[in-house]
Amino acid sequence: MKTKLILVLSFITSLSLAHEGVELGPNGGRILEFSKNETMHGEVTVKGDKFHIAVLDKDMKAVAMDKQTLTATTGDRSAPQKLAVEKDAKGFLVPLVKAGEWLILQFKNASGEKAITARLEYNTAICEECKNAEWLCKCKPAAEKK
Ligand SMILES: [Zn+2]
Repeated sequence: MKTKLILVLSFITSLSLAHEGVELGPNGGRILEFSKNETMHGEVTVKGDKFHIAVLDKDMKAVAMDKQTLTATTGDRSAPQKLAVEKDAKGFLVPLVKAGEWLILQFKNASGEKAITARLEYNTAICEECKNAEWLCKCKPAAEKK
């Protein structure tokens, strides 16, 4: 029984390593979940030396920026490093993290609301299949392929 479980787990791991199968947004950015019910999303793109995180609604349309707040960290859980966050008309700007590191975002739609945590591994290795960086890989997970 145990062997079988390990086999299944390693199969899942190898799949996710090969192709991330991430969700991409209207601007070709990486979609992160900014709500518990798919009503709010973040679309992460790279602009110069920063990530731009656009805030999108359930239909992937831009949301007017108002009381939304974001905190961003990177690095180890034991020693997280806080990143400076700027706000613009469409979302937030955060300095790029090092390739292979995690960007951890905590989004609040309004003050007093519970923060939603979204994570992104900034894997800049190029996917052989779609030629995008892995963090923007367009390939569907194997199970979804026709
Ligand atoms: Zn790919």
